[in-house]
Amino acid sequence: MTKLPFADPRAGFLAARTELVAAFETVLESGHYVLGEQVEGFEREWAARCRTEHAIGVSSGTDALALALRAVGVGPGDEVLVPAMTAVATWMAVSQIGAVPVGVDIEPLRNGMDPAGVQARLSSRTRALVAVHLFGHPADIVSLAQLAAEANIPLIEDAAQAHGTHLDGQPAGSLGALAAFSFYPTKNLAAMGDAGAVMTSDPELADRVRLLREYGWRTRADAELKGVNARLDELQAALLRVMLRRLPATIERRRVIARAYLDGLADVPGLELPAPTADSEPAWHLFVVRHSRRDALAAGLARAGIGTGVHYATVPPLNTAFAAAGWTPGAFPVAERHAANALSLPIYPEISDVDVSRIVDAVHSVAKRI
Ligand SMILES: *Cc1c(COP(=O)(O)O)cnc(C)c1O
Repeated sequence: MTKLPFADPRAGFLAARTELVAAFETVLESGHYVLGEQVEGFEREWAARCRTEHAIGVSSGTDALALALRAVGVGPGDEVLVPAMTAVATWMAVSQIGAVPVGVDIEPLRNGMDPAGVQARLSSRTRALVAVHLFGHPADIVSLAQLAAEANIPLIEDAAQAHGTHLDGQPAGSLGALAAFSFYPTKNLAAMGDAGAVMTSDPELADRVRLLREYGWRTRADAELKGVNARLDELQAALLRVMLRRLPATIERRRVIARAYLDGLADVPGLELPAPTADSEPAWHLFVVRHSRRDALAAGLARAGIGTGVHYATVPPLNTAFAAAGWTPGAFPVAERHAANALSLPIYPEISDVDVSRIVDAVHSVAKRI
């Protein structure tokens, strides 16, 4: 029995091998390795796809989020509303700049920040709201943007899991004042290392992010802002341009697999399936189910040679790093229930239809026994 890994970024790169090697040689021979023609080309192409005026290539998704927050003026001691279920990186980006992440519970279907929970967490120190399109499902941006506008704070998208996601026909990345993408190797659009981007259509915010990304330099003679080094290199940008050309096809393949799971697993007792809302076109970065016997389900699938993941086993506010903030279990019932029950099935473009059927059959047979 062949083993099916939960994720396989290597397979995605090998499928593009010839073009990736050619891109590497272009950079090799160019003599220019950090911020240059390839970065600018990628920024243009990625902005066009996200329908924003600007894309600023940076070193990672976490840095993209931190720079977006700094661009709107968030600084030490300021509070930022973040969902209680997300990659811990969302919370780390806020604390990286000395600001304070304040958790809001999620909605069980969209998996995004629950608009109903925002009001209770707003304070006179709240300076921004970060909406996460978790697993590739768009957050309820319409309601969240309205709440942010009423509070006179900017809404920033963490779109690290949402390359190719649409809400009412609009691409993720274009739905807030700024957006942050990650191109970590397992994301929908992958670099062969760390990379990220900040998106915006506001020229002043774009200018500020560009400065902050490289020592605050306007020119090499004057650092205008207290910036960092969060540059994107030419090699990753050149590889990203190759992978970007394949993105429409890989997203389509993810949708086909998701549809097969939704159909094939609809009648498994005790299994909760993702249920995209009518206005959503998810890009299916992850396919996350819930089951009260999650660990037994994962163990049974592992015995059948099927790798799974858990996104995420703990809520960020209950991570040790945030202990001093004093969040207690029970503060985020929907997010915590998700953490206890979530299981991610493999969903990447290189999985065959035969693999998908095998996974569907295995879930049925394991679920019957647990
Ligand atoms: C991956 C991810 C990040 C962090 O991106 P890095 O490139 O790993 O820094 C942030 N937020 C979410 C939701 C992510 O999935």
